[in-house]
Amino acid sequence: MEKLQNFINGEYCDPIQGQYIDNYEPATGKVYSFIPNSGTEDVQKAVDAAEKAFPIWSKMSIEERSKILVKLSEGIEARMDEFVQAESRDNGKPVSLAGHVDIPRAVSNFHFFATAILHFASESHNMEGLGINYTVRKPIGIVGCISPWNLPLYLFSWKIAPALAAGNCIVAKPSEVTPYTAYLLGKVAQEAGMPPGVLNILHGEGGSVGDAIVKHPKVKAISFTGGTKTGEYIARTAAPMFKKLSLELGGKNPNIIFADCDFKEMLSTTLRSSFANQGQICLCGSRIFVERSIYNKFKEEFVKRVEATVVSNPQDPAAKMGAVVSKPHMEKVLSYVELAKEEGGTVLTGGVQVKLDEPYDEGYYIRPTVIEGLAYDCRSNQEEIFGPVVTITPFDTEEEVLMMANSTEYGLSSTLWTSDLKRAHRMADQLQAGIVWINAWLVRDLRTPFGGVKASGVGREGGWEALRFFTEPKNVFIKY
Ligand code: NAD
Repeated sequence: MEKLQNFINGEYCDPIQGQYIDNYEPATGKVYSFIPNSGTEDVQKAVDAAEKAFPIWSKMSIEERSKILVKLSEGIEARMDEFVQAESRDNGKPVSLAGHVDIPRAVSNFHFFATAILHFASESHNMEGLGINYTVRKPIGIVGCISPWNLPLYLFSWKIAPALAAGNCIVAKPSEVTPYTAYLLGKVAQEAGMPPGVLNILHGEGGSVGDAIVKHPKVKAISFTGGTKTGEYIARTAAPMFKKLSLELGGKNPNIIFADCDFKEMLSTTLRSSFANQGQICLCGSRIFVERSIYNKFKEEFVKRVEATVVSNPQDPAAKMGAVVSKPHMEKVLSYVELAKEEGGTVLTGGVQVKLDEPYDEGYYIRPTVIEGLAYDCRSNQEEIFGPVVTITPFDTEEEVLMMANSTEYGLSSTLWTSDLKRAHRMADQLQAGIVWINAWLVRDLRTPFGGVKASGVGREGGWEALRFFTEPKNVFIKY
């Protein structure tokens, strides 16, 4: 069986302690490769390589850095099929989704920041008659990038592309649940002419290698995407070392539907915003609030569409949903369905594991699930489930739905369906979220700030925000 390797100093290498962990294929429930179980020695080796590479990379002209990053982007594009198949196999998502969303977006992330850096500028502030301030933005040095399993290469590249563009060297760790496409990236970096040590990719568990990256004194900034509890731990660990932190954490996003919306468009988009990627997107709208006058109509038509959703193996072109990412995650999602029942909810459809035919009979498949009858403040409506489970709740007034929408500890994104322009602005202004979509979902412009408020995170990714995060401003004053 294949053994994955770390990528340090421009070369693939085995973990120093020689330990490995199993890598499962969610579609079949079988182990299909082994992942390095790296530790502090591997982190040290990566930091040493990054330290040596930093003067080369940070002093290279922006044009040259940009060209290498464009090549990286093109290198992924040239291996599109290999990356798409690998992402689907590692994560359980349909091949069609990896081919339409994940890998094209990773290509765009590198291309976007490769070119954005060419236009990145800093400010100057003139003090009439006295002097002038100019601000330079310098790369930080060695930065740590840690990413989750739901959109593996997409979110990994969303961090490392701006960090590299800004001139930093990286010690990066993809999720141990979905390491494969990050593993493949090493080859592309070699082919793109990335100098050794600029991009180091370590594999292994969060509690060991992830923790060692966060704790290493020479890693000056941490960009993390993952669960809120992990983010809290990382913040606690990194804060006394005065590291720069970007934390993109969990969500429990509201999807608010007013009676005056375009019903047809809302319905098909709501199907996606509920169950795309098996509901495992931090931006999925898991709490659906529907104005009472259309509640029954929505319920009937939504449930009909959900029941027609094909859950199948990721290779099946008909599959709208594949497998969830792991057995423990499947068990967690199903345990929330049981909790919802205990809390008085009625499962309108789904809530069960799906058994497919061999060789997929041990895979982790769940029917998309719709639950009604729950109080807005019960645990099922407050805690992140991160799977194919949504709740539906009627509302009567704007005030009431705003109160329910804003009632969770999270504040990542919100979706709003209405054709009343004034109401759209009013609601957008008051929703506690970093991102609000009106009559749309998951429309992404890479220039816009991306991130959440409250327990959904600290800081923003995307566009200039990311380039500012990965640089330190230095102000210089000169007297006239
Ligand atoms: P997770 O927090 O378990 O793991 C995320 C990453 O952190 C993994 O690489 C993991 O190995 C590592 N890690 C775990 N413990 C660590 C530690 N002590 N020190 C350093 N690294 C550690 O999250 P997950 O289960 O992989 O991902 C799902 C979560 O990610 C959900 O909560 C989801 O909402 C969130 N998410 C947020 C966004 C966003 O942009 N806000 C995007 C995608 C996913």
